[in-house]
Amino acid sequence: MTERIVIIGNGMAGSRLAGELHARGGDRKVTVLGAEPHRAYNRIMLSTLLTGRIREPDVELAEAAGQGVDLRTGVTVTAIDRAAGTVHTDDGDRLAYDQLVLATGSRAVVPPLPGLDGPELPERVVPFRTLDDCRRILAAADGARAALVLGGGLLGLEAARGLAARGLDVGVVHPVPYLMERQLDPAAAAVLAGTLAGLGVTTHLAVSATRVVADADGVRLDLADGRSLAADLLVLSCGVRPDTALARAAGLDVERGVLVDDRLRTSDPRISAIGDCAQHDGALTGLVAPAWAQARVVAQLLAGEDPGARYRPRPPVTRLKAAGIDLAAMGDPGDGGTGEELTFADPARGTYARLRIHDERLTAAILLGDNPAVGTVIQLFDRGQPVPADRRSLLLGRAFGAAAAPAATPALMPDAATVCQCNDVSKGALVGCWRSGARTVDAVVAATRAGTGCGGCRDAVAGIVGWLSEVDSVEVTR
Ligand SMILES: Cc1cc2nc3c(=O)[nH]c(=O)nc-3n(C[C@H](O)[C@H](O)[C@H](O)COP(=O)(O)OP(=O)(O)OC[C@H]3O[C@@H](n4cnc5c(N)ncnc54)[C@H](O)[C@@H]3O)c2cc1C
Repeated sequence: MTERIVIIGNGMAGSRLAGELHARGGDRKVTVLGAEPHRAYNRIMLSTLLTGRIREPDVELAEAAGQGVDLRTGVTVTAIDRAAGTVHTDDGDRLAYDQLVLATGSRAVVPPLPGLDGPELPERVVPFRTLDDCRRILAAADGARAALVLGGGLLGLEAARGLAARGLDVGVVHPVPYLMERQLDPAAAAVLAGTLAGLGVTTHLAVSATRVVADADGVRLDLADGRSLAADLLVLSCGVRPDTALARAAGLDVERGVLVDDRLRTSDPRISAIGDCAQHDGALTGLVAPAWAQARVVAQLLAGEDPGARYRPRPPVTRLKAAGIDLAAMGDPGDGGTGEELTFADPARGTYARLRIHDERLTAAILLGDNPAVGTVIQLFDRGQPVPADRRSLLLGRAFGAAAAPAATPALMPDAATVCQCNDVSKGALVGCWRSGARTVDAVVAATRAGTGCGGCRDAVAGIVGWLSEVDSVEVTR
C-alpha cells in the first residue's frame, strides 16, 4: 500500500523535507499542509527584502511541489488524532497519515505591554516573522520618517538596518545593557552600536518599554526611564517561541519544543518533528542549517534510504545580514573557560575581533568589521581544526610572514571545508560538481544548493568557481 506522509508546515523545514522526499522518488504520497497562503519562501531573506535590495519573487524557495507532493497552502491543521492516525484541518478536511512530521516553526513573541494586549496588534505595530509581516512593515514604512524597533537581537538589528537603508530614522530599544547579548560581548556590542549609529540607527540600551500607544497617525513607546519615543511604526523583535500547541494538545512530550530523539522522532514513533518547533538533546535551534539537516535525516529514514541516519547537531555560527555591517559570531562569548583569549579592537574603523582558543582549537569567536579571515575562522571553528601558530592572521585577517591565513584562497582550502553552512556544502562537493560539468555559479548553486540559505557564502562559491575556471583554462592551454 502507498505510504501516506503528512507534513504540517510549509516553512523552511517542511518544504525542504517535501523536496528531499520528492527527490528520492518511491511509492509514497506526501501531503504538505501550510497555514501561510504563499508558496514556500526563504524566511531568512526577509531581512534583505526589507532593505529593498531584492524583490518578493527572489525569496521564493524552489522546493519540489510536483508529482507525489500534494501541497495545500492556506490550510491550518487544527488537531491531530493519534489513535485514528488523522489530522484535522480548518477547512473541514480530515487526512489519514502513516507518518506525520511536525514542522510548525516558531511564532514571534509579543511582549505583554499595555497597548499590545488586544486581540489584534495596532495597525502600525508589526512583528517580524512572516512575509505578511514584512509586507505590513513595508506598507507602514512607505512615506514614513521614523521607525522604532523593540529588541536589539539579531533580527531586530536586521530590521533596523533595513528600515534605515530606506531612509528612515530608526531607534532600537533594548532592555539589556548591550546589543545581541547572546552572541556578543559588551566591547563588540559597543563597536556594533557605533557602526549602526553611522548608518542612521540610534540605540537605547538598558531600558524597558512600559507601554505602547498607537493610532492611525503614529506610535508612541513609553520607556521605564520616563522618556517617550515617537515614530510612524514599531517593529516588535522580542524573540520567538516554538509553535508546539498542536503537539501538546495531541499529548506528545513537549518542553520548550517538541521533544525528539536522534531520529527526530517524538514520543509517538509515527510522528517526527523538525526545525524550530523541535527540541533535540535539550536544545532548540532557531536556525535554518539544523532545520535542513534534520529534514535530510527524516527523508533518509522515511524513504528507507538509510535506516542508520541520525541527526548530529553542529555548533551554530551567527552572521548578521545587514549591508554595511560584517559580523560573525560563534561559540558562547560569555563562556569564561580556560585557554587563550585574543582580542583586537579598532572602534573608529568599526572593527573588533575576539578569539577564544583552547587546546589549539577555537571555542568561540567574534569578528566584526571587514576581516578577510572570517571564512577561515568559521571553518576552523566548525571543523574543530587546529589554529595556525601565528594567531594574528585570524585576528586581523592579514598574512604575517609565512603565517598566512591557511585558507585565504580556494586553492589552499581543504576539500572538507564547509563553504555553505546552511546547506552543509563542502569545497570538495563544489569541485566535484564542477568536474561533473556545471560551469557557471548558477549551475553549481542549482546542483549543490550552496548559497540558497542566508546567501552569505555566495561570494565564496563564486570565488571557487572562478578559481576552478582559471585552473581549467591553465590546464587546457598548457
Ligand atoms: C527575518 C528573519 C531572518 C532570519 N535570519 C536567519 C539567518 O540569517 N540564519 C538562520 O539560520 N536563520 C535565520 N532565521 C530563522 C529561520 O528563518 C528559521 O530557523 C527557519 O525558518 C525555521 O524553519 P521552520 O520550517 O522550522 O519554521 P518556519 O519557517 O517558521 O515555518 C513553519 C511554518 O509552519 C506553519 N504552521 C505552523 N502551524 C501550522 C499548522 N497548525 N498548520 C499548518 N501550518 C502551520 C507556519 O505558518 C509556517 O509557515 C531568520 C528568521 C527571520 C524571521
